[in-house]
Amino acid sequence: MCEDCLPICLNSIALSRRSLMLFAASAVGTLLGDRIADAREAKALPKPDNVLSPDASLKRLVEGNARYVRGISRCDDLRPERKALVGAQNPYAAILSCADSRVAPEYIFDSGLGDLFVCRVAGNFADDEMIASMEYAVEALNTPLILVLGHDRCGAVEATINSLKDDKPPPGHIPSLVAALAPAVKASSQETGDALANAIKQNVADNVRKLRSASPFLNAAAEQKKLKVVGGLYRLDTGEVDLLS
Ligand SMILES: [Zn+2]
Repeated sequence: MCEDCLPICLNSIALSRRSLMLFAASAVGTLLGDRIADAREAKALPKPDNVLSPDASLKRLVEGNARYVRGISRCDDLRPERKALVGAQNPYAAILSCADSRVAPEYIFDSGLGDLFVCRVAGNFADDEMIASMEYAVEALNTPLILVLGHDRCGAVEATINSLKDDKPPPGHIPSLVAALAPAVKASSQETGDALANAIKQNVADNVRKLRSASPFLNAAAEQKKLKVVGGLYRLDTGEVDLLS
């Protein structure tokens, strides 16, 4: 066991307990009851520090990515977290990412168990099942942030470009991926520059928009400022995630 890592892994739980105790002790007047109730509710969660606003959630992702890029990731012993999470989960962010083996959200954002609700499919697009999964994360787990994460040189997007160019369907079930990614490829086809990079970026933007609009539940959560849906691109060479506006 890494002696340096364990205190950091346990840090969120320990700090939260202390801060909740201080928080409860300082609550006065008519808000006292509500605040204690909130604190009890948060304390019952396996990872109280994961109870974040959408902006704080995004900041945490950005900070985790910076650690990953610099090679100073924190947790390599997940046993304490595994134990804390047996009965429940409260991830601080949901990620829709590509299935590409080089794009692993838990590593990219230096996150432990129970931090990220990750849905992966080649081409990182939101079909009905993905939308339903995100609804579950937001509704049942109170996740405040959804990140659609594309990446450089995505093979699924490249296969779609080639299939449309050659007017030839790929084998097996891959045409279903092509159908899902074709709108982004077509929408970006008139842009100048690298066609693959343009289509990858367009696909992220399209799926951010889709998650915001296709689900009345997610849309309502976003309007109430309980949820943010953002897009990002993972850079294979540096490990950095560039957030899209
Ligand atoms: Zn990909």
